[in-house]
Amino acid sequence: MTTLSKEMREVLIKEIPWISCTPVQTLSSKNGDTHKVVLAGKDELLYESVLMANNREQWTICVSSQIGCAMGCVFCATGAMGLKRSLSSDEIADQYRFWKQFLAERPELPQRVSNIVFMGMGEPLVNIENVKAAINTWLTHTDIGPTRITVSTVGVLPVLEEILTDPDWPAVRIAISLHSPEEASRREIVPTTAPDFHKRLAKWTHDYQAVHGNRRHHVTFEYTLIAGVNDTAEEAQKLVKFIKTTSAVKVNVIPLNPTGKEGLTASSRDGIEKFKRILLSSHIDVTERKTMGQDIAASCGQLALTVKSDGKIVG
Ligand code: SAH
Ligand code: SF4
Repeated sequence: MTTLSKEMREVLIKEIPWISCTPVQTLSSKNGDTHKVVLAGKDELLYESVLMANNREQWTICVSSQIGCAMGCVFCATGAMGLKRSLSSDEIADQYRFWKQFLAERPELPQRVSNIVFMGMGEPLVNIENVKAAINTWLTHTDIGPTRITVSTVGVLPVLEEILTDPDWPAVRIAISLHSPEEASRREIVPTTAPDFHKRLAKWTHDYQAVHGNRRHHVTFEYTLIAGVNDTAEEAQKLVKFIKTTSAVKVNVIPLNPTGKEGLTASSRDGIEKFKRILLSSHIDVTERKTMGQDIAASCGQLALTVKSDGKIVG
C-alpha cells in the first residue's frame, strides 16, 4: 500500500502480520509426494503441517489444530508430547495459505489443493471454536467445499453431541478414530475412552445420520492396526458386530507408523489383508490409508518435534 506513509507501513507490518506463522524448517520426502513444515507461532512454540500428493494429481493438506495433544493415545508421538496449547483460528487457517505460497514458489509442481484433513497434531474437537472458524474461512475464501474437508477425532462425545444441534457447524466430513471394538481394550490404547463409549458412539452415529446424513456425509471409522493388540480375527469379528449397531459403513484401516514406542509394532501385510477381508465379507466398505512421508516423520501419529542440542529440529 504505497499510498500509506513508510512509517505507517512499518507499523502495520509489525502489528498486523501478513501470516500468523513463520516457517522454521521444511522437509521433503525422497519421492517428492510429501512435504512437512515446522512452523513457529508468535510465542515461538512449534507445530507441524503436511502437504501430501493425492491420487488426483492434486494436494491434500494435513493440518494441526493444537501444539501437542492431551489425549495420550499410546501409539501417537504427538500424544507423548502432552498439550502445549491450542492453535488460534488464524494459525489453523494459515496452514493453507502457507502451503499455497509454497506451491506458488514451485511452479513445476501441481498447484491445486483439493482436500484438507485435520489429522496433524492435536485433537480438533477440544479446540472446536477455532477449528470451526478456520473451516468457515476456507469455505468462504477458497474453492474447497465441505465434503473435501475431514475432521478426524478421537471421539470427544460431548462435543460430537453438540455438533448435532449447532447451527454453525459446517457440513464437513467426520472420521472417528475407533481403534478397538470394545471399551476396556480401547482404553488400553486410547486412555481417554469415556464410560459406555461404544454404546454412546453408536447412538450418535444414528443421530448424526438423521441430522446431516446423506450419501456424501457418512461417518468413517479410522482403525490403526497394531500387531497382536487390535488386529486379530477375533477383534475383526467384534468390530463387524459393533459396526452393525452404528450407521457407519466405512472403515479406514491405518497400518501403524513407527513412533519409537516400545512393544507396539505394525501388523504384517498378511495380518492387514486378513483383517480387511473379514470386514469386506460382512459388506463393510474398507479402505487402507496409504502411508506417506515416513522418511521425514510426516505420517499419521509421527508429528512431534525434538530440538537437538545443536539447535537442529528433528521430526
Ligand atoms: N486427534 C485426532 C486427529 C489427529 S491424529 C484423532 O486422533 O483422530 C490422526 C490419525 O492418525 C488418527 O486416526 C490417529 O489414530 C492416527 N494415528 C496416530 N498415531 C498413529 C501411528 N503411530 N500410526 C498410524 N496412525 C496413527
Ligand atoms: Fe491426540 Fe489424535 Fe494423537 Fe490421540 S491420536 S494423542 S487424539 S493427536
